[in-house]
Amino acid sequence: MRELNGLDMTLKDRVARMPGGERVTNCFLCGTCTAGCPISRLHGDYNPRQLMRRVLLGKADVLADPVIWQCMQCHVCTAHCPQDVRTADVIRAMRQLAVDEELMTQELMDAVVALDEQQRLERIERIQSLVGESRAGKGVDQS
Ligand code: SF4
Ligand code: SF4
Repeated sequence: MRELNGLDMTLKDRVARMPGGERVTNCFLCGTCTAGCPISRLHGDYNPRQLMRRVLLGKADVLADPVIWQCMQCHVCTAHCPQDVRTADVIRAMRQLAVDEELMTQELMDAVVALDEQQRLERIERIQSLVGESRAGKGVDQS
């Protein structure tokens, strides 16, 4: 790690070398990603623009910050970004780097895996219920 005033000057290159992180240096910090992000709307402490800024400045603590796991990978930010940063992919690359560099506690990793699985199951159950209600409402034979 090459440090300058406590900043890790290698961080953005390490992120850019990860699959998905390649375009991080395209970011000009406009904030369009945050404006459209559904998680930012719900949680004021989550801000993808700020995540990009921390990477570009070399604030290496961002990789160990559990906030990077709040992203739900919906890719709205990617669709809106005027610089084609592919923000969601950059965040995924940051997560992979955090895992590779063992910056994530086993406890957090287990909790994230369990949460993802729970959300998938809840979504499947909810969709199945909606599909059933919709078919019943249209008189569709479900047998
Ligand atoms: S990732 Fe894109 S939308 Fe977000 S701040 Fe950077 S340039 Fe703007
Ligand atoms: S992919 Fe993540 S950062 Fe981008 S809009 Fe969705 S939740 Fe926000």
